[in-house]
Amino acid sequence: MDKKYLQMIGKCSRCGGCQAHCPLYLETGREPFVARGKIELLDNLAAGKLVWNDKLAEVFSTCLLCGSCTENCPNGVEPDKLVRLARKDLVAARGLPIIKRNVLQHLLKHNGRLNTAGRLLGLYQKSKLQLLIRNTGFLKLISTNLANIEGLLPQITGQPFRKNVPLLNTVDAPRLKVAYFTGCATNWLNPHIGRSVVKVLKAYGVEVVVPEQYCCGVPALSSGDMDTGRYLARENIRNFSELDVDYIITDCASCLSAWLEYPELLENDDALNLAARVMDINRLLVEILDVSIPAKESGVKVTYHDPCHLKRTPGGRTSPRELLKRLSPYYEFVEMDLADRCCGSAGSFNISHYELSQSVVKHKVASILDSKAEIVATACPSCMMQLGHGLKKNNSDVKVQHTIELLAHLL
Ligand code: SF4
Ligand code: SF4
Repeated sequence: MDKKYLQMIGKCSRCGGCQAHCPLYLETGREPFVARGKIELLDNLAAGKLVWNDKLAEVFSTCLLCGSCTENCPNGVEPDKLVRLARKDLVAARGLPIIKRNVLQHLLKHNGRLNTAGRLLGLYQKSKLQLLIRNTGFLKLISTNLANIEGLLPQITGQPFRKNVPLLNTVDAPRLKVAYFTGCATNWLNPHIGRSVVKVLKAYGVEVVVPEQYCCGVPALSSGDMDTGRYLARENIRNFSELDVDYIITDCASCLSAWLEYPELLENDDALNLAARVMDINRLLVEILDVSIPAKESGVKVTYHDPCHLKRTPGGRTSPRELLKRLSPYYEFVEMDLADRCCGSAGSFNISHYELSQSVVKHKVASILDSKAEIVATACPSCMMQLGHGLKKNNSDVKVQHTIELLAHLL
């Protein structure tokens, strides 16, 4: 274990303050689920009193990396970082599970393979096969996980976003020029969000470049596969460093968090310079473009869910809310309880730990329903899937939309 790791463990006084803030501890009441329990285990691993085994691997897979413990620790410990370092050690000691290894190393690094996977999924969803498989419960017979993944995915409605958008989307007398990092979810699962982003930016006089790009690397980095994470980061930096743009924008909180990590990961000037210009789309619209929005009447109530990866970045809590307030009177923004509590999605956590993630999201669903909102807006495609699934399971007709979709609707 490296020195940084040990110093961080040493800072933890075992006060247990993190218990009140950990969504998983609040569900289970069990010490291995909370930061303090994990730090105690890491201390024992570092001292050689424990070695990595299946049980420990499972304990360290049960963390949402939501950062709520980090945000509230009186001693400045960053348990989410420790969990990620632990996962890196675990991968070094035991390797990745076979399915994860194939997805991370043989799918995410190849856009062509991702295109094929998306096309096959779209064909499956459109065919009568999906209906048959759902009605017969066939997937559950093979694996409950497969049935859960199938239920979480949105309907694939067409070709990937980047396939149909020009490299350069021009406007007359541009105010700014930005490069758009679409992320995998917008490209393959939610192309309509990508179209909304381009429409909105062009409407406010911004030229948009949509270059060739790869997965941001979050799935690899949060799984401890640093080599794949670094490879993807390097490819993205290479593609974006050739562009002459004012900002790099993203509509995905997780992609934003990955880009902000690139300088530490790659330790080079290109990564440092580009990461300094990366920004969430909501922040660009509010803080840089200071947009005003055409007033239209409607009074549709909207509430907002904070993605964990966005709320701790500059303007991450305020910009989306400010944008929603500017959409009044068409949309009436109402704050809900627990708006900044993790939804339980956490990348693939909602697949690998489906039941636990559903226990976490049920509180969010209750808050959304209590708010009486007709729409819950957010700024992360992964949260959108989780919220949509949770609401559907509750037979709710509350819609889940990206903040940018709401703005695009008014232009
Ligand atoms: S991580 Fe922080 S809050 Fe949790 S036990 Fe350690 S010092 Fe206390
Ligand atoms: S990152 Fe979130 S889920 Fe993980 S230990 Fe901290 S509070 Fe709990």
